[in-house]
Amino acid sequence: MDGGMDGGAFLKSVSEGVFRVPWCAACSIPVWPPAPRCGRCTGPAGLRDGEPEGLVLEASGAAGTRFGLVDLGEGVRILAELGGRAAVGSRVRVTSCGVRDGRPYYVASDAWM
Ligand SMILES: [Zn+2]
Repeated sequence: MDGGMDGGAFLKSVSEGVFRVPWCAACSIPVWPPAPRCGRCTGPAGLRDGEPEGLVLEASGAAGTRFGLVDLGEGVRILAELGGRAAVGSRVRVTSCGVRDGRPYYVASDAWM
């Protein structure tokens, strides 16, 4: 882990296809939604490898593309494009991520094996 991050470090990591989570070492909690500083102790957040597996809480979507709210644990929830046959209640894994129009996006699928 590096010593801290500026506001762009999270997006930079995501843009490189690496899902990492801002993390406060002092509190041992994720800083989520991503922020440069911990919301509890205001200490600097570092980046840590994210938990890639989670549970689909909600799913919605029009023809073609479906989106789901995925709970990755420890309060980290992402809105991800769903791949495979993922539906509400599915265990999914973040299979890719990136940045589109300045915002992070994620793809989560139940068919990574
Ligand atoms: Zn903290």
